[in-house]
Amino acid sequence: MSTAATTSPGPARDHVFHRNLLKKYPLAVRAAGVYIFDGDGNAYLDASSGAVAANLGHGVQEIVDAMAAQASQVAFAHTLRFETPVLAQTARRIAHLSPDGLETVYFASGGSEANEAAMKLARQFHLDSGRPGKHLVIGRWQSYHGNTLGALSAGGDVGRRTSFSPMLAPYPHVSAPQNESLQPVCPHDGGPDEQFDYIAEFEQVIARVGAENISAFICEAIVGSQQGAVVPPTKYLGQVRELCDRFDIVLIVDEVMTGFGRTGKNFAVEHFGVTPDIITFGKGVTGGYAPLSGMIVHDRIVDIIRERSDGVFRHGYTYSGHPVCLAAGNAALTYYTDNAVLENVVTQGRHLRGLLDDLQSRQPRMGPVRGRGLLLGFDLLDVPGRRHITSEAFNEMAMQNGAIFYPGKGRIDGIRGQHLLIAPPLTIQRVDIELMVDILEKTLTDVDVEVSSQIINERNAQ
Ligand code: PMP
Repeated sequence: MSTAATTSPGPARDHVFHRNLLKKYPLAVRAAGVYIFDGDGNAYLDASSGAVAANLGHGVQEIVDAMAAQASQVAFAHTLRFETPVLAQTARRIAHLSPDGLETVYFASGGSEANEAAMKLARQFHLDSGRPGKHLVIGRWQSYHGNTLGALSAGGDVGRRTSFSPMLAPYPHVSAPQNESLQPVCPHDGGPDEQFDYIAEFEQVIARVGAENISAFICEAIVGSQQGAVVPPTKYLGQVRELCDRFDIVLIVDEVMTGFGRTGKNFAVEHFGVTPDIITFGKGVTGGYAPLSGMIVHDRIVDIIRERSDGVFRHGYTYSGHPVCLAAGNAALTYYTDNAVLENVVTQGRHLRGLLDDLQSRQPRMGPVRGRGLLLGFDLLDVPGRRHITSEAFNEMAMQNGAIFYPGKGRIDGIRGQHLLIAPPLTIQRVDIELMVDILEKTLTDVDVEVSSQIINERNAQ
């Protein structure tokens, strides 16, 4: 270690491993509202809310003050031995926002941990209900529920799984409804067509694996990161609910990305009129100001745990219910309500959708726009005669133009399904929506300019 290393920031990749070690990223030095500024004074419009967490934008003083006040009062107390007022306050606010019947909250730190907790709770629930064999979780292909080995086993992103195989648990997977613009591809059978009966496939998997072995089914109501804002057919979730009821399967709906207003409802599941047994949340609960996540649990599970296990969910760890994180959550949830954030999502989401639909009609590289509220996306299509561009490369070009989107690749081959998720802070205003779409349009044009100049340069070099 040199003195220089301790005094100057230097590139983080010299000593940390979080990012692609070969790449140089801009140094974020300041952020305000929907903008992040780098060390050279460049502004980036945050069109992805920093991994869809910074729902309230950057620099919200009320949240910063609440965290500071909590840190100076009781920064940390053993969650299993003390209560803090902010624990009850935050849980009450969350229960108030949740669908009826989901009244009890368990706090964790990140989305992956929340889903791990939910899968464990489902097992304990079955055990306490006298169904000890139920342990498998059915997940869906092309889904993401976190990076811990359990959550990765339930998730169906083959790309993220390959370096870590075999998975911890041999969880079965079913197909997830796709957007209409692409042929669905599933790794197990080469792909159903657009008429594919997702529910029949689900039933077949239950029959094959045995309902007596299945503990839970996990899915997102509207798929965020893995498929880029894919909304399922209207009846799909209701039919899933019926199957879960019929076979005593706990329905876990992962709202880590969609929770707290992102899609124009408090929870995305509300679009479909379905009540899950467990909702998991993360990211937006603090607007990204602190690591807080958790699950909201239906009374039908809580009642059994109260009756058979004295109310004890046999799970817990050091930072579950950390008071400073809860203070951030409590202040963020207050901010959502006091500033009518949900209403803003509906208004600005509609405006954004209109602008994107219009852009799409003029841009052959854009597939049909999909999503709800301020969780919108489209596929980056290949255009005959023009070069293929990955969403990651597209996003880097967009950053040069002053906006950062959320790139994704939904299909297993890493080529088809390149998509862009557009998910700005839920507090974004009209003027920034319009600038964001202008930057998108410029980038879509730049792609072809750059690609054609690249082709010319390559030809000249030959
Ligand atoms: N579930 C979903 C739907 C997510 O989008 C994410 C994060 N992208 C996670 C779970 C995992 O959350 P975390 O990264 O906080 O562990």
